[in-house]
Parts: sequence; C-alpha cells; structure tokens
Amino acid sequence: MRIARFTTGDEPSYGVVTGDLDEFGQPADDAVVVTLAGDPMYVGLKLLEQEHRLADVRLLAPVLPRSKVVGIGRNYRAHAAEMGSEVPSEPLMFIKPNTSVVGPGDPVHYPPQTSDLHFEGELAVVIGRICRDVPPEQATDVIFGYTIANDVTARDLQRSDGQFTRAKGFDSFCPLGPWIETDLDPHDFVEGRRVQTFLNGDVKQDGSTTDMVFDVPSLVAHVSSVMTLLPGDVILTGTPDGVGPMEVGDEVEVAIEGLGALTNTVVAR
Ligand code: MG
Repeated sequence: MRIARFTTGDEPSYGVVTGDLDEFGQPADDAVVVTLAGDPMYVGLKLLEQEHRLADVRLLAPVLPRSKVVGIGRNYRAHAAEMGSEVPSEPLMFIKPNTSVVGPGDPVHYPPQTSDLHFEGELAVVIGRICRDVPPEQATDVIFGYTIANDVTARDLQRSDGQFTRAKGFDSFCPLGPWIETDLDPHDFVEGRRVQTFLNGDVKQDGSTTDMVFDVPSLVAHVSSVMTLLPGDVILTGTPDGVGPMEVGDEVEVAIEGLGALTNTVVAR
C-alpha cells in the first residue's frame, strides 16, 4: 500500500494511492488518492469515502520526522571507494535535523556557503513505533514502511568541517517521498531493488540495495541500540556510487524499483 500526505489547498491529509506504477515509477494517469481519517501511523488505516485524482493534489513529504533523520554513511562499497574510504566496520551514523525535510516537487535551496552541492539517492526507512534495542530479527515490527530520499550534501563543507552536521543539515537537504510503501520488507532489499538518480534526465547513480554493506534490520538494530526511535523517525540507508554535483536550475530525480520516483529542483537560496 502506498500512503501519501497531500493537500488540495487546505490542511494536509493522508491518503492511499491506487493503481500500479509504470517502468519509470510513475503512477497511471487515472490514479486516485483515497483520503484517510488522520495519520495512519497513529490511528490505523481508516479509509474515508472521499477521493481525488492524484494529478489534482499536491504531494507533501509523506512523513514529518517526529525527532530525527538518522543518516548512514558509506554503506555501499563502491561509494566508499569513490569517497576515498573503506567501508566502516560498523554503521557510520549522523543526524539530519527534521527541519531539513521537504516533499516531492519542493525546491532544494543551494546555500551561499557551499560551491559543491551533491545529490545522494537513497532508500529511506520510516519507523512506526517507539522502540529501543531492537534485535535485527524484530526490525520489521517497528518499520512502518519505506520511501525515497535525497541525502543532499554540501561536499566541500563535509570535507572542511570534518563532520556532517552543517554539510547535511541545511533546510531542504532531505527531500522525502513521494509516498510510503508499506508492502515491502527487508528481504526485498537484500534480493535487490534498483536505486537510480537522474540529473536533468541523465542517469548518474545506478545501484542496487543488494550491495548495502549493512542491511535494513542491522541498521535498525544499530541505531536503536544508541537512541530511542520514535514513530515518524527516518533512517537513510546510504547511497550507491555515482554521487555528483547539482547546479541551480537542475532537476534531480531519485527512483527506486517498486517504490516510485522523487523529483526536486535546485533553486538559489
Ligand atoms: Mg548519504
């Protein structure tokens, strides 16, 4: 099931997006979104007798992280290599503030402090329950679903600062969307789902989740052994190789097989 958050101009609502996706991760022209009563993460799935054509609504970030977005660095061997590093012996964690989150179609703001703004297409895990010290074999119990992220990074600031807070923490540096898919499970990602990033239509990243060094259950276990996870918190699972710069005016799309596609445009801040 694909759960979206959307607006028709009024207060945001949640809804279920119907129909199949095409080979580009796009829904059919006649797809609709059936409105839900409240936030399904808290009240369950209560369908209302109200629907809109998907084309007539504006999708918003499908989740507003309650407290944090936890990023994982260098979780694909080829990306670690292109960064001039080895893969870490345990997951490398960092935090993006929840104020960095924006939705599909929202602008990514190019800050004046950087001159090397990079895209990083990633699978994102959405946590559904308060949890701590989750064993890997119970990770699926605390996962609400999966969405797509762009872990936007000011690469020059990441290098000069020696840590990630500023480089990955600007407003708009965490596009999420277009919806949360609740029907996938960690095994699907071990088998492999294609992760692609397109810049103005040209493919720049083309990886597979099968190449993750630490799989989704391991990441949930590792992060929750450090900090309590709250409903709506998000874990970014790392990016494949092929990261690169974006310029003002560029359109960047991250597509994950079976999940959909997340598109944003870069604007000057
Ligand atoms: Mg990343």
